[in-house]
Amino acid sequence: MTDPITGLPVVGIVGGGQLARMTQQAAIALGVRLRVLADTAHDSAALVTPFTSVGSHRSYEDLAAFAAGCDVLTFDHEHVPLEHLLRLVAAGVVVRPGPNALPFVQDKIRMRERLGALGVPVPAWTVVGQPADLTTFGAEHGWPVVVKTATGGYDGKGVWFPASAEEATTLLARIAAGGKVYVEERVDFQRELSALVARSATGEMRVWPVVETVQTNGVCTEVLAPAPGLDARLAAEAQTIANSVAEDLDVVGVMAVELFEVGGRLLVNELAMRPHNSGHWTIEGARTSQFEQHLRAVLGWPLGETSLAGRATAMANVLGGSGPDADNLACRLPQVLALDPGAHVHLYGKGVRAGRKIGHICVVGDDIAANRRRARTAADLLQGETQ
Ligand code: ADP
Repeated sequence: MTDPITGLPVVGIVGGGQLARMTQQAAIALGVRLRVLADTAHDSAALVTPFTSVGSHRSYEDLAAFAAGCDVLTFDHEHVPLEHLLRLVAAGVVVRPGPNALPFVQDKIRMRERLGALGVPVPAWTVVGQPADLTTFGAEHGWPVVVKTATGGYDGKGVWFPASAEEATTLLARIAAGGKVYVEERVDFQRELSALVARSATGEMRVWPVVETVQTNGVCTEVLAPAPGLDARLAAEAQTIANSVAEDLDVVGVMAVELFEVGGRLLVNELAMRPHNSGHWTIEGARTSQFEQHLRAVLGWPLGETSLAGRATAMANVLGGSGPDADNLACRLPQVLALDPGAHVHLYGKGVRAGRKIGHICVVGDDIAANRRRARTAADLLQGETQ
C-alpha cells in the first residue's frame, strides 16, 4: 500500500473531476502518490494521474479493489452509496471523511435536520409529502418559495423557485418521482458567503478567510477573497459555525459552509465535505491551498497556514460557451495569456459543453474590484463571449 519508492502513504480519491485533478497538483508538490477511481480514462483527473483505476463509485467491488491499493480513501464528490462506505470501513478501509459525516451532505434533508439540532441558523423549511404542504408553507412564508430535491442536486439543478401555489403544485407533480423533496423560504439575501475549514484526522482545524461567492442561475461564477467589507463580527461568526459543524460532524478533510448574509445575520444554505469551488482561490491566494490542506487532513498530518498570500484574490469560473466557435480554446487561450500576463489560468482538460465548468481564472492583487474585472474579462474571453 505504502508508496514503495518514497515510503509515504498513498491517497485514493474517488471521482475523477477537476477537484481530484487539482488535488493531484498538490500531491505532486508533497511527493504523495495519488490514486484516482474515475468513470472513464479521459476524466479530468484521470488524464493527469498515472495511478488511475477506471471503475464505478456505485460498485462495491470496484471501490474495494481500488481501496486495496490505498492507505486512505477520500472523495471528489458525495455520491458513493452509504452502504458501500459502511462496508468499506467494516473491511478495515480508512475512509475520510467517514460514513458518520457524509450522510449529512448526501441528503439535504438530513443536513437541514442536523444543522437545526446543532443550533445553526438555517432558512425556515419543511419536508414536502404532498402538494398541500407546499401551499401551506407558501401561504405562511410568502411566494416564491424554494423547492429542493434532497439528493442528487448540484449547480442549481434540483432547485426551483415556484412563484405561486399553482406553479408549485405543477412542479411537484413533475419532480416528485425523483425522490424526497423539501421547501424553504426564499431568502432575500444581500450576498452569499462561504466559510472554508479543514479538519485533520488529528482534530486540528484551520479556517480560511471568509469569501463572497456570486451565483448565476445557481452556478458559482465568481469568488472574492476575502469577502469585501464583511463585518468582522459576521466573519468570525461564519468561521465559528464552520469550526463547530466540522467538529460536531467529525469531518476529516476540507468542508465548505455556504451562507446567506441577510440583514446583518447569517443563515447556512448548505455544506460540502470536500474541496469546493469557493476555495479554488486558495491555490494562489492563500498560503496553503484547499487541495494540499485536504491531503494533509486526510493523512492526519499537520495543517498549513490559511492566511492570505496577497491582499485580495478574485476567481472567475470559465463555463463552456454556446456559440459556434465555443470550443476554439486553441485560439482563445493565447489571447487571454497575452491580454493579462498576471492572471492565473486553470483549465481542467474537459471538453466544452454549454454551461459546463471547464476552468477558472484567479487574479491576486491589492484592489479586489480591479482583480474581479480582470478575472471576469479573462474568463469571458475564454468562454468566447467577447473578442
Ligand atoms: P446546489 O446544491 O445546486 O448548489 P443550493 O441549495 O446551493 O443548490 O442552491 C443553489 C443557489 O440557489 C444558491 O447558491 C442560491 O443562489 C440559490 N438559493 C438556494 N436556496 C435559496 C433560498 N432559500 N433563498 C434564496 N436563494 C436560494
